Amino acid sequence: MKPVTRALAAVVLAAVVVAFASDQVPSVDWNTVARIREEGLQRSQVMDIAGYIVDVLGARLTNSEDMKRAQAWVKGKMEQLGLENVAVEPFMDYGVTWDNEYFSLHMLEPDYQPMTGFPLSHTPGTPGKVACPVVAAEIRTKADLAKFKGKLKGTAVLASPVLAISQASLAQGVARMTDEDLEKLQENVAPPAPRPTPPPTNPDLLKPEEKIAFYKAEGAVAVLQCEGGRPGVVIGFARPGTKDDKWSREASLGSLPIISVTPEHYNRMVRIVNRKIPVKVEIEVRNRIGDKVEKAANVLGEIPGTDLADEVVMLGAHFDSWHASPNASDDAAGCAVALEAVRILKAIGAKPRRTIRVALWGGEEQGIFGSQEYVRAHFGIPGDPKNPPTPAYEKFCAYFNQDYGAGQFRGVYLQGNEHVRRTFAAWMEPFKDFGMTALSIQSVGSTDHVPFNAAGLPAFQFIQDRIAGTAGHTNLDFLDTLSAEDLMKNAVVEAAFAYHAAMADQRIPRKLLK
Ligand SMILES: [Zn+2]
Repeated sequence: MKPVTRALAAVVLAAVVVAFASDQVPSVDWNTVARIREEGLQRSQVMDIAGYIVDVLGARLTNSEDMKRAQAWVKGKMEQLGLENVAVEPFMDYGVTWDNEYFSLHMLEPDYQPMTGFPLSHTPGTPGKVACPVVAAEIRTKADLAKFKGKLKGTAVLASPVLAISQASLAQGVARMTDEDLEKLQENVAPPAPRPTPPPTNPDLLKPEEKIAFYKAEGAVAVLQCEGGRPGVVIGFARPGTKDDKWSREASLGSLPIISVTPEHYNRMVRIVNRKIPVKVEIEVRNRIGDKVEKAANVLGEIPGTDLADEVVMLGAHFDSWHASPNASDDAAGCAVALEAVRILKAIGAKPRRTIRVALWGGEEQGIFGSQEYVRAHFGIPGDPKNPPTPAYEKFCAYFNQDYGAGQFRGVYLQGNEHVRRTFAAWMEPFKDFGMTALSIQSVGSTDHVPFNAAGLPAFQFIQDRIAGTAGHTNLDFLDTLSAEDLMKNAVVEAAFAYHAAMADQRIPRKLLK
């Protein structure tokens, strides 16, 4: 062949190879899938791991002593599983630690009743046991303040209205996805348009932290409140304003004890007070508040890759939780699944080409901070001059996350990335019998795949059945509502997805950044 012809032939050949490569049906390693299924379904440890986190370690509020203890355990667990480069990696200054050590609330008059509730995080305790009258003092606007001026000294304030209790969740039972639900998700072929900007809020409405400041200035001793309206369920988060004051010791000590109460007990107090009959309660709260600003942390560990070790496949979930219960479904379950997935891969002696890294995030509940700071520090963000993409950005393969409760995987949200449709369809093929069949182009949010996705890195949440009790953020999220079978299946799927992503000829394709 003449040089010109040879060059032309090479170009044609290259074009054919490229066309072939992009047309290739992604391969499934059925032998490895069989070993993953055998290990994960016949010798599962996922409930042992979830059980230790939920029963023994308990709630895991970011930057609490509880969380530090839990992270030390999980680091040891990763080492025991044979992971490498295991690290508790600090990511940002996160204020002082806060832990609830004791709580009690009783109605003393007009009838004795022990009450169910818990203090919001980053609130102060009471000076020992405090017995005091209760006043209904719901305020919404600046104009409401005058009504209660001079009337709250030495009282516990009922700060929210009577809440209608809904039995709907009890009547509906657990929510498995029906075939129809999955079809609907798949038929929804265009991601939704951006939401319209919300109308401006009424400037006369008081911010929650302004209300608390008023109660405090008026000499109230505690604030009682209620959210949600599900039977027996207490919901409560952090003292209003914590993100602005960066979880500070001074702001926490300078606030009031704020206690979230179960709707049945809360409503009873409001109704009695509305009859002009005095209610007296006894409250005792002891909280341990740290005295120096500390960094919150993520916990990471790896199965190092072989010939493509600098390319990374990640899987994970958030290890932090709200503090009223161990939050079995939010997200001890996702953490146990990720740990079990890497346990399975180690147990079958998998030697992935790319590195498989598991990440158990902190700071998710307060604002997805752990994964956000991780992406910024390790991969960088295109278009952000302060955090330009690092060499690891190009080499990144994909991130898989579980955080929509503890229900089993039924498919994957493609997050607007059409390029992965056929690959994921192939990787789901061995799990049809699990009911893992759906691909939705929809983008979903609210958890740790978001910062990856926002930076243009492929990151995915699984479509999940919405089972498991009260769900997260409540006082009732314990091990009892987790389904072993669901979590076993999820760990098997996650292990297989991570393995296939780590072995594929090409990294997971990316969608175009806008
Ligand atoms: Zn969660």
